[in-house]
Amino acid sequence: MLSPFHSRRIQLKVLVINSGSSSLKYTLFDMADESVLCKGLVERIGLEGTNMTYQAHGQKFEAPLDIKKHSEALKSITAKMTDPEIGVIKSLSEIGAIGHRVLHGGMDFSEPTLVDDAVKASIRKYFVLGPLHNPANLGGIEACEESFPGIPNVAVFDTAFHMSMGPEAYMYAIPRKYYEKYAVRKYGFHGTSHKYVYGKACEYLKLDPAKAKIISCHLGNGSSLCAVKGGKVVDTSMGLTPLAGLVMGTRSGDVDAAVVTFLQQQEGLSAAEIDTMLNKKSGFLGVSERSSDMRDIRQAMADGDPKATEVYKMFLHRLTHYIGAYYLLLGGADAILFTGGIGENSYETRVDIVKNLAPLGCTLDEQANACRGKMCTISTPDSKLTAIVMPTNEELMIAMETVKICAK
Ligand code: ADP
Repeated sequence: MLSPFHSRRIQLKVLVINSGSSSLKYTLFDMADESVLCKGLVERIGLEGTNMTYQAHGQKFEAPLDIKKHSEALKSITAKMTDPEIGVIKSLSEIGAIGHRVLHGGMDFSEPTLVDDAVKASIRKYFVLGPLHNPANLGGIEACEESFPGIPNVAVFDTAFHMSMGPEAYMYAIPRKYYEKYAVRKYGFHGTSHKYVYGKACEYLKLDPAKAKIISCHLGNGSSLCAVKGGKVVDTSMGLTPLAGLVMGTRSGDVDAAVVTFLQQQEGLSAAEIDTMLNKKSGFLGVSERSSDMRDIRQAMADGDPKATEVYKMFLHRLTHYIGAYYLLLGGADAILFTGGIGENSYETRVDIVKNLAPLGCTLDEQANACRGKMCTISTPDSKLTAIVMPTNEELMIAMETVKICAK
């Protein structure tokens, strides 16, 4: 198997779009050297106080915007990109392709794909599985079609990498008819990130990507683990939606499904209220009753807050549980990777995680572990399992996938 990074450098400028319901994040790459020409965000689209940021030439610009739609946000962005003073391109025709992050590709997409009417219909079909993200992602694609006629749009799905999982991992043990009727199964998310760090780690450790066995820990506000063997996903911790698995910022992660029906009955909660409780009011926030943010949790622990300490221990316990399981499912591992805001930056958390990995022969190099936000090996040279901090770059991965599709 070729490294996902093989022969990727070509003369093409690629715009990467991550469109949310009221936001639009963008990055323009020059894929000749993978440099970022400009990037930024439009927030609060359709709400009061719409705001735009634009970063280029080492400077950051910020301004309020009087717009209501994503297509108007794109016009403001492209006006900045082509501005004679602060712009980075002379004309929009320099943009060769646009890559879009799309949350849910359901069972239809195991690879990124060029957008056409059938692809848009599939993204629409899965609104039901990604009710917040898929409509917004499709909105971003349609806004680009309107603003950049003739430029190819590529959809890169968060779920695609995980389509390589086998049924022993993706099936739920509920009546088969729900799988057949509604495609209820495990999909997994953060696929773009897990694929990127897997490829990077193979390159860094000189491992054959067709044979490597890697546990990837993406730990951020949303967190997931992924066990990858030979470039194929053996298992991942998120499920039908991103709610399953680890204890996260505001998501519960795994709970006994009976908790849902019990609380519905006891509290008279509707399905929507339960959904909000598990997705937005649980995790670090729900248990600490303080914050969803790891930095606040660590600060609260230092101040002696027992609830913050409890949720931190729950986070570690669940994480250790998954790492142990994935080590066995992979039949051993060449490396464990830490990425995402917590994985890349919280060296204290890494100390605690790696301590729990002693039975796997993983020992921490305390000095190396002091690193933050950059690629480094944090295990000792004699460690049986190599631990690595591997910063993710989902935008670049989307740009790389876009180039690959356009090259076809
Ligand atoms: P998202 O999932 O929204 O992309 P990130 O990957 O940016 O989120 O991760 C956000 C998390 O990373 C937060 O919990 C934040 O506290 C944590 N984080 C960021 N920097 C640090 C740091 N220096 N120390 C500890 N935690 C950090």
